[in-house]
Amino acid sequence: YAKSKGRNRYHEYNESLRYDQVVKFDYEIALNQCIEREELLLHYQPIFDAARNQVVEVEALLRWNLGHKRLVSPADFIPVAEETGLIVPIGEWVIRQACKDLPKISEKFGPDVRVAVNISRVQFEDEHFVERLNAIVAEEGVSPERFDLEVTESLVMRNLEEICAILDQLRAQGYTISLDDFGTGYSSLGILAQIPIDKFKLDRSFIVQMNPAVISALLAMARAMDLDVVAEGVEDGDQLIQLMNMGCPGIQGYLICRPMSVDDLPNIWFPDMQHHVV
Ligand code: C2E
Ligand code: MG
Ligand code: MG
Ligand code: MG
Repeated sequence: YAKSKGRNRYHEYNESLRYDQVVKFDYEIALNQCIEREELLLHYQPIFDAARNQVVEVEALLRWNLGHKRLVSPADFIPVAEETGLIVPIGEWVIRQACKDLPKISEKFGPDVRVAVNISRVQFEDEHFVERLNAIVAEEGVSPERFDLEVTESLVMRNLEEICAILDQLRAQGYTISLDDFGTGYSSLGILAQIPIDKFKLDRSFIVQMNPAVISALLAMARAMDLDVVAEGVEDGDQLIQLMNMGCPGIQGYLICRPMSVDDLPNIWFPDMQHHVV
């Protein structure tokens, strides 16, 4: 009995392994076709400047639409796209689509509103990245000043000097650089301080913990380094009040607005509106 059970187990294990491989293969083929099948879409989430009382930026967040109301989260397919290199054409699609949506975004939030796009380390390591980025924004008639590139500190784990040179080049062209998920990586502050950025985005975990000593220290550091700060994942009014009391004007999170399609974005923060509302 034991022997047959053992053999069965082996058999099952073998089958499930093959099944996994088939599923992974199918998934990669499906992802490979997502652009031509027009299954990608962008949601946008406003970044609110509490000091100026207006939306200053919107972040583009990618979704893969499998139909029947099934949207695949980027957390699930970006890693596969990175592994297969598909992130390069997918990332280019994101940049182009963000350019195309910018007029509608400006209609809602004003002519100076900017768009933030997440750039993966794998895209950055592609030698044609800067050239392609510039070509796309030029083709779409968008100025680099309207673009914020969100990168994570994993970017600088390989070659700090080379990456810093590219970031310097991008900033000289007018793009701004934000360090996303700040505080979740393993880089020392000494390394982080060397990366040429314009802003850091405090990871949601800091907002959940809401340790005033930690947040005040990070805000003081940002001020000393002349960097902007945005708090990610602000979900309730208490968090907002505490952040504002500590002097963090940049707020992003479900409290302000969930990520949604460009057409669904509310336009209640357009500054001129204030004159029209009685
Ligand atoms: P991220 O750039 O840090 O984006 C913030 C994530 O937090 C988004 O998840 C957003 O929907 C979510 N979020 C925003 N406000 C709140 C809140 O108040 N509470 C909570 N619990 N969550 C909130 P999403 O859209 O699932 O994206 C996950 C990650 O996928 C992003 O993290 C980013 O790293 C990556 N990603 C998204 N779009 C792209 C893209 O176009 N290219 C690349 N390379 N990565 C992308
Ligand atoms: Mg981001
Ligand atoms: Mg983030
Ligand atoms: Mg995050």
